[in-house]
Formats: sequence, structure tokens, C-alpha cells
Amino acid sequence: MTEGYDYDVLVIGAGPGGYACAIRAAQLGLKTACVDARDTLGGTCLNVGCIPSKALLHATHLFEAARGGHMACFGIRTGDVHIDLEKLMEKKNETVSSFAKGIDFLFRKNGVTRLEGQASFVASDIIEVGGKNVRAKSAVIATGSSPSSLPGIQIENGRGMIVDSTGALSLTRIPNHLLVVGGGVIGLELGSVWRRLGARVTVIEYTDQILPGMDCDVRSVMAKLLAKQGMNIVVSSSVTGVEINGQKVSVAVKDPSGIKTIEVDTVLVATGRRSNTAGLGLEHVCIDIDDRGSVTVDTQGRTSASNIYAIGDVTRGMMLAHRAEDEGIAVAERLAGRPGIVNHALIPNVVYTDPEVAAVGKTELELLNHGIPFKKSHFPMLANSRAKANAATDGFVKLLAHAETGVVLGAHMVGEVAGTMVAQITQAMEFGATAQDVAYTCHAHPTHSEAIKEAALALDGAAIHY
Ligand code: FAD
Repeated sequence: MTEGYDYDVLVIGAGPGGYACAIRAAQLGLKTACVDARDTLGGTCLNVGCIPSKALLHATHLFEAARGGHMACFGIRTGDVHIDLEKLMEKKNETVSSFAKGIDFLFRKNGVTRLEGQASFVASDIIEVGGKNVRAKSAVIATGSSPSSLPGIQIENGRGMIVDSTGALSLTRIPNHLLVVGGGVIGLELGSVWRRLGARVTVIEYTDQILPGMDCDVRSVMAKLLAKQGMNIVVSSSVTGVEINGQKVSVAVKDPSGIKTIEVDTVLVATGRRSNTAGLGLEHVCIDIDDRGSVTVDTQGRTSASNIYAIGDVTRGMMLAHRAEDEGIAVAERLAGRPGIVNHALIPNVVYTDPEVAAVGKTELELLNHGIPFKKSHFPMLANSRAKANAATDGFVKLLAHAETGVVLGAHMVGEVAGTMVAQITQAMEFGATAQDVAYTCHAHPTHSEAIKEAALALDGAAIHY
């Protein structure tokens, strides 16, 4: 370690970006500490994000399947099925806490020092942690993001009436009517959880379709599928006011015909997230912040202060755990004098609804806007043997490839296990595969992944099963 410093690297934030960065830096021989203001490690992702939401999505999927949905079509009769909400939340919390202990163990195993408390820069190599100054040669800001609300809407997670995603992961009763503000990933996932548990769910989306930013076909198909499941999706509308009236919440919704008031039990505000930079003392180290409040970094993750890096949700880009993790590992590698690589063009994006949505690379609209010549294919899951055997045939695989070279440029899919399927095409794209490379790779039968092979064959009009 360099003399005069307590640590070679101090990582601020122990989310998927920060803890992965700290572990990799320690593995590479750097004296490393990781500080977090939370009592538990794992950041948003583990405590109030990816993991608890997926635990609830999985459990409620089973509940719905058992309650006369999917299982009944195979002749599985379950009788009366009930949900024990307290037990469900207990199991979710248990999953979170055992995972958090696992990160603690990994810190000890790899020699990462865990510090607790709020961290704030005093100078570029001095960081105050819980009242004490720590000297670090390099620092990595991995402070993540927090839910953002709308002007005039006060989140009160405790009462369970006007909540953000954190509150929606821990409601103590099933609302009769849940109104979700925002038809993005978090709103649709958490809306699905509570709909499966019996709530009437209305989603208010500002743009003219749900899932802004995703491919056009995915957006329209998912709107139909979620509506078929009973979700009331209202587009081109905005929430202009929310007020608690006794046991109900009055929500003013503006659409092209005027303003209506809807009475609901709970409002979930899922309109986006903002980077956590407040209280970090960035003004003491002259770090640039962009117009959306995120830390500005170069392609190497370096901020405007040469020994300070930033990764994950605190920087501009897709707010996803795997982006944060890959950036954390890459920065650790760079700090140890190695090349650290993240291909930001190929970050897969998954929505864990039923069916799942998964995407990687360019959308059709992006290719059109960039004037890139392309060909496209569409293979329905209805023609995939495994989906058929599972009686879960909703969805499709859409591939986009360069019109002349055949290089795969984008993949967009809806299907039971689309989130798992997307890994294969991401890897193929990472290696610069053409549609032919994918089509002539042997795929096990019967698997959902065969739909990707068929979609690749379909680009040249050669699909076998459709
Ligand atoms: P975070 O995980 O936000 O961690 C930052 C940590 O820094 C926090 O623990 C915070 O306490 C700490 N911190 C902040 N400021 C300070 C300070 N000054 N001093 C000390 N500590 C500080 N992403 C996916 O990829 N897949 C999913 O399925 C998924 N589902 C999600 C579901 C929900 C409901 C939500 C809310 C998010 C979901 N995300 C998902 C997004 C994912 O959680 C984030 O992209 C990811 O956690 C970002 O990681 P990070 O390391 O940048 O920061």
C-alpha cells in the first residue's frame, strides 16, 4: 500500500457496483475498504430492489398458478388456495438477510474492510466516514440511486397509502385498488405482484405506450398481455394530484379529454430514480454533475477528479445491477493496472413480468433513426416446442441483423424465460456473431432457446417450425 494512506481504494456504497468493485480490488492485492450508510450490505438491489421484488414475483406467480390459473390446465387441482401475506414477506426478508450475510462473508474472505456510516469527501483523498477521516489513494463513488417522486406528491411508505417501490415491497395488506404511476419496469413488476395477490391494478402511463425505450413490438404485445391478465393500463395520461381522504387516496388523472378523479387504496409512484449525490461533499472535490444530477464520468469511469471514479446508478446510463457490477469490476481492474472493459452497447435489459421481456442491442426504431440498413425476423413462442409443452406460448423472439453483413444488431423477446434466454444472444453479439453463426449453432431440444435459433434462420426465410 502507498505510504500515508489508510487504504489504496475506498469504495463508497456497497450495492452491486460497490461490493463487486471492492471484492475485485482486494483480490488484485489493493488494500480496500467499502463503506455504506445502511446497516446491511447489498445496496438497493439486495435490500429494496432486484432481490425482494423477484422473491415476491416468484411467490405470487406460484400463487396465481395454483389458484386455478396455469396449474389447472394440466389437471392439477389444488382446492382453495390462500395467501399468508405475513409469511410471504417473512420469506422475502429472510432471502434478503441471508444474501446480505453472504456479502459480509465475501468481504471477510477477500480481505475487504467494511466501514459503516455516511461518507463525505473532505478532499480528493480524504473522506469523512461516520465522523472520522479516512485517507485513500483512490475512491470509487458507488452511491446508487433513490426513487424520485412527482412534484406535490409526498411519499409515506409507513402508512402504505402513497408509496414508492420500497413501500410497495412491504405493504402489510393487499389493497383493493392499487394505482401505479408509471408504466415502466418497476411499476409493471410491482403492479403484477399485487394484481396476482388480488388487487385491482390501474397503471397510468404518460407516454402513448408502456415500457418506454423498449422495442415497439415488445411494447404493444406486453400491453395486450398485461391487459388480458386484468391490469388496467391507461396511456397518454398523467397524475396531477394525490390526496389522502380518510382510508382512500384521491388521484387526479389528466388525459386528453380532461381531468378525472379516481379513488384508490394505495398509490405506487414508479416514475423513475435519481442518482444519490447529496451529502457526498462533491463540492469539495470539484466533481462535475450533469443536468440530471448524475456524476459525469469518462469512458474509463473516471470523474473530473483524477483519483476518483464513479460507477452504477450514480452515473448516467441504464439503472441496472449488472451494469453497476460490471463497471465496478472494470474500475477495480484499472486501479490494479489492468485493462477493465464494459461494453455499454450490450447491456441486457429484463422485465420480470409474466411472460418476461428481455432485450439487448438496438431497437428497430434506433436502427431506423441511425439509417442503418437492417433485416428483421419474428418467431412466435407458439411454434416453440418447449413453450408449447409448458402451455406458456405467449411471446416471440425478434432479431434485427445488418442487411448486408448479417451481424446481429438487436434481440427483443417476450417469453416465459426470456430473461435467461437473452444471455446466449448477448454473448453471441459480444463475439460479433452473424445471424448465420447463431442459426448454425446446435441448440438443445426441446428448449426455449431454440426460438432464438429459429428467429436467426427466419432472417433468411429458413425457419423450420414457422
Ligand atoms: P445501489 O444498489 O443503489 O447501492 C448504493 C449504496 O450506497 C446504498 O446501499 C446506499 O445506502 C449507499 N450510499 C449512498 N450514499 C452514501 C454515502 N454518502 N455514504 C455511504 N453510503 C452511501 N436492476 C436489475 O438489474 N435487475 C432487476 O431485476 C432490478 N430490479 C429492481 C427492482 C426495484 C424495485 C428497484 C428499486 C430497482 C431494481 N433494479 C434492478 C435496479 C438496481 O437495484 C440498481 O440498478 C442497482 O442497485 C444499482 O447498483 P449501485 O451499486 O449503483 O447502487
